[in-house]
Amino acid sequence: MHAIRIALLSLFLASSPGHANPWSEVPGPSEGMPRSIGETSAGCIDGAAALPTEGRGYVVMHLERRRNYGHPSLVHAVRELGEKAAQGIGLLHVGDLGLARGGPMPFGHRSHQSGLDVDVWFDLNPGLHARADRMRSNIPAPSLLNSAARGLDYELWSDRHIRVLQAAAHLPGVDRIFVNAYIKRELCRTVAGDRDWLRKIRPWYHHDDHFHMRLACPPDSPACVRQEPIPLGEGCDSSLDWWLHQHPALPSKPSEPKPALPSACRTVLADP
Ligand SMILES: [Zn+2]
Repeated sequence: MHAIRIALLSLFLASSPGHANPWSEVPGPSEGMPRSIGETSAGCIDGAAALPTEGRGYVVMHLERRRNYGHPSLVHAVRELGEKAAQGIGLLHVGDLGLARGGPMPFGHRSHQSGLDVDVWFDLNPGLHARADRMRSNIPAPSLLNSAARGLDYELWSDRHIRVLQAAAHLPGVDRIFVNAYIKRELCRTVAGDRDWLRKIRPWYHHDDHFHMRLACPPDSPACVRQEPIPLGEGCDSSLDWWLHQHPALPSKPSEPKPALPSACRTVLADP
């Protein structure tokens, strides 16, 4: 269970907005060559790129958070996924990437620190596109779970969700994608033909209203710390049953101290 615990911390969602920290107050990306530094839950990014707040097939939500930054390969991956979405899947509502120099956020995530993580809503309907920026801050992402939270809401779940996850899993550089266990189970039950990509779809806490896409360490980032590789196989086995039947509870607070940032992140933060 220890591995689960460690992994849990890296995705832990803090409950309420906290105070600003130095990472949330930087004027913009640092000027170095792009490189991800450290771990997704204890790291930063030099030379981050900004994802334009809208583009073909996508809009960025919660603009006021200014979390639309990441490694250029992440920005590229989101734009690619938008292109795919525009071909009959729908409109992507892109949640947080990371802060302009990565690093810990005052609220919302433990990971998303090294420019390799992005959240994408499961709401693929284009209705929000015309709304004002202000509205993009105030609307919640709808969940795909049924009212008992013990399965999917089949009024909402659709083939488009399978297609967007499949497209995301096939993007170059994508290492893993976190979804709710009931979503993983649905894919295990229904996907026909090519199923290799199911391996990258990992069950996780929450993630019933968005999926979380994580890139592997890019080749230009020697100081990026690789995550433990995902297990072989589709993951439609007893490991999934554990999520479905144990209903592991998410602790209300991280019980371990935050890991220290690599010292290279101090330089990234200090860049004028
Ligand atoms: Zn996330």
